Amino acid sequence: MTSTVTQTPVLICGSGPTGLTAALVLSRAGVSCRIVDRRTAASGLSRATGLNARSLELLDQLGVADRLLAAGFPLTKNSYLDGREVIGCDDLGVIDSDMPSLLAISEATIEDHMTSHLSDFGIRVERGVEVIGMDPHGEGPVTVRHADGRLADIDARWVVDAEGAHSTLRERLDIHLIGEPVPGGWVAADVITDSWPFDAADTPNWLDADVFWAQPLPGGAIRVFFRHDADELTVRDVQAQVDARFPEPTTVLSVAQAGHFRLRHCVVESLARGSVFLAGDAAHQCSPVGGRGMNLGIQDAANIGWKLAVAGESTRPGVVLASYDAERRPVDADAIGAVARSFARLADPEVDPDHRWSPASPADSVRHNDTSRDISTRYLDSPIIDYRDHRTDPAVPVGMRVPNAALSVARDDDPSDLRSLLAVGGHVVLEIPDPRGVPAVAVDAAAGGSTAHPPAGGRLTVQDPDAELARILTPGTYAIRPDGVLACAAPPGAYDRITDYFAVLGLESP
Ligand SMILES: Cc1cc2nc3c(=O)[nH]c(=O)nc-3n(C[C@H](O)[C@H](O)[C@H](O)COP(=O)(O)OP(=O)(O)OC[C@H]3O[C@@H](n4cnc5c(N)ncnc54)[C@H](O)[C@@H]3O)c2cc1C
Repeated sequence: MTSTVTQTPVLICGSGPTGLTAALVLSRAGVSCRIVDRRTAASGLSRATGLNARSLELLDQLGVADRLLAAGFPLTKNSYLDGREVIGCDDLGVIDSDMPSLLAISEATIEDHMTSHLSDFGIRVERGVEVIGMDPHGEGPVTVRHADGRLADIDARWVVDAEGAHSTLRERLDIHLIGEPVPGGWVAADVITDSWPFDAADTPNWLDADVFWAQPLPGGAIRVFFRHDADELTVRDVQAQVDARFPEPTTVLSVAQAGHFRLRHCVVESLARGSVFLAGDAAHQCSPVGGRGMNLGIQDAANIGWKLAVAGESTRPGVVLASYDAERRPVDADAIGAVARSFARLADPEVDPDHRWSPASPADSVRHNDTSRDISTRYLDSPIIDYRDHRTDPAVPVGMRVPNAALSVARDDDPSDLRSLLAVGGHVVLEIPDPRGVPAVAVDAAAGGSTAHPPAGGRLTVQDPDAELARILTPGTYAIRPDGVLACAAPPGAYDRITDYFAVLGLESP
């Protein structure tokens, strides 16, 4: 019997990296939300060990990247070995971002810092609160069970399902996962060894069907991952793997932590039903090869987060929210498809080692890292992006995120770069005048309301044609979304296009 009903604009189910990101985006935009988790305490266990550049960019906007960068260290290469022989490596040190390509850091540490930052907004994770049901159409309240057995209904206008791979809501709403399980059992363990016979920032991968890889972690442990069907993992098991592969004798002293996994490559048929939006492992799962799962979850949450904030003020919330599935599902499916193909190639004993890995040429390294670290993600078929880009060869096409870059703006409190503007939580509308003297429309620098949507900063003019951002975007009038994605690129002075963009969102233009 349900005893209480409480209301909240947004309920977030699950406090892994996905749920915490959604809570931070909403809190920063001034939207009240609740975040519940069935665990009575953080698990402290860590699955992911790599946070990528795009996730770091988003977490920087949310004010949490500095502490993550301080807690981890950048990985600079992936070497590939056939037996004990290094046959090549990918350079992780080059990427079109001010953030490292891949930061070595444990998922548990990420969650700790995010939870702590969330408390700065007065939000605490409600622990020992398990989501147990909801109407199958995704409408009405979510029923939860407290640790003491008490049932309650939480009536939320919108729900973010970030419950992870075994999501209860996904099951109740009968949303199918499309994709195949990976045969066999797999283990990820953090072990202590007496030495590390590789570069300090290298993640070596072995091109054999056990899919063995190793990665140094902050604090000195080594993460190893490999095929392992038994339920137990002993020091001897790991030592046998290390003896067969490491180029120099290395002793495994202890196993600090081990998790046994069944893996699957899959994506849901839809990211939304009724008032519920699925994100992270609730929406898709993949093997750890390439370090994508958590990062895709963080990026899903950043996408739905700002849209929920806008939807609360929009006259067209349905259009805004429909763009979540249109944007994120193809991106998630592409990434997971790529992981599935890599994994199948690695794990297939019939495949020759030479064909298990294709090296990126030095010239291709940046492009390769931009893709695998989600920097060049582009939303190609979104109902809310204005694709009528006027530029002939844009460095940043619409639908892609704008890199952080310095600008000078016609405001008293001149912020130093784009990300500091985005950190406010709203859109950024920019005018970059044509230096050949085509007059820009007069700029209303004081426009903008007290809320974060539409933009807190009003329209800004990049006065200096040499400012980094002016060079990247070229002259024009731009709307950059709260997640940093370029949503509209019009000729200089064409504010009607910006007005149209905000009208699609159901908002008034600044
Ligand atoms: C061995 C391994 C290594 C990996 N390495 C990487 C990597 O390097 N990089 C990377 O990007 N990804 C990696 N991943 C994937 C990554 O761990 C996941 O994608 C990530 O944890 C998903 O985060 P999430 O927040 O969506 O879900 P979770 O972290 O699973 O969080 C879900 C939360 O919801 C709570 N919950 C569940 N059910 C309920 C309920 N009914 N009611 C209330 N709360 C509930 C849970 O208690 C949990 O706290 C790895 C995975 C594995 C297995």
